[in-house]
Amino acid sequence: MDAFRYSRADGVAQAVQAGAKSSTAQLGATVRFVAGGTNLVDLMKLNVERPQDVVDINGLPLDKIETLPNGGLRVGALVRNSDLAYDATVQRDYAVLSQALLSGASPQLRNMATTGGNLVQRTRCVYFRDTAHACNKRQPGSGCSAIGGYNRMMAILGTSDKCIASNPSDMNVALTALEATVQIQGPKGERSVPIHELYLLPGQTPERETILEPGDLIISVTLPPVAEGTKSVYLKLRDRAAYEFALASAAVVVNVHGGSIRHVRVALGGVGTRPWRSFEAERALEGKAPEPALFRHAAEAALRDAKPSSENGFKVELSKRCLVRTLTMATRTT
Ligand code: SF4
Repeated sequence: MDAFRYSRADGVAQAVQAGAKSSTAQLGATVRFVAGGTNLVDLMKLNVERPQDVVDINGLPLDKIETLPNGGLRVGALVRNSDLAYDATVQRDYAVLSQALLSGASPQLRNMATTGGNLVQRTRCVYFRDTAHACNKRQPGSGCSAIGGYNRMMAILGTSDKCIASNPSDMNVALTALEATVQIQGPKGERSVPIHELYLLPGQTPERETILEPGDLIISVTLPPVAEGTKSVYLKLRDRAAYEFALASAAVVVNVHGGSIRHVRVALGGVGTRPWRSFEAERALEGKAPEPALFRHAAEAALRDAKPSSENGFKVELSKRCLVRTLTMATRTT
């Protein structure tokens, strides 16, 4: 394996050209970008990822948090999770994001993990990480050991007969509720993608998780401005209080005006094969007075299509209660 380090002087384009030599940007890529290394290096130690070249992008000028002219925020791909979580603007205007980041991993990992890396964080399915077991995501066509196997942590929304792995990130759930946009620089130039379009459902090709192509480098994430009076909350339910992935989580961004919900965005974590935007819950809530019966109705709508496996049926009710609780917290007036 060769390692290349790109500096501020080289610029993003050089790194992108190096990445474009790979045949794929998905699992099995021959060229990988590395920043914090908190996920990729783990997978390399486990022989799940075996790139020929690793491109170190830590020297690139992508480490700034900037307020945009429209009042939104641009977060560079190399901004560390801890810096983003404690940024004063994020804590004030995008509390859901700060809360999600601080609920993930450990302080040491958050000090290393980057915004861009977290966006493409891989599943923690135990069979994906163990090369002794069949896994369609790691080795297409080999089968899925989680279906009929240990599947307590797996997804109940967006699954297929090829893969039921859940997306493990907290940050991405908050970014989905905030309607973040992801800026990508590739060999053909720069483009922006709404975050809920970045991720693909497993379908028949679970090895392909995002729309990223060879050479594509996430360079930043943009958050839209928030209207006055908007509140946001992230709630994560897990087996222990720290250093654990979500069984169920919810991110809510809501604006209540004149006694009714004027704007609301809902995303669920721990239950989806990708950060799960619930348009169904949003439709159920918009324009109505915030009250417990409505929240339960929205939660029912959000989980209507849930397909639990043999060991994770409890997630259906857990996720509903998590969303009801999060909506209650976000619309509380005192
Ligand atoms: Fe692999 Fe997905 Fe099945 Fe896990 S759930 S074993 S990642 S195919």
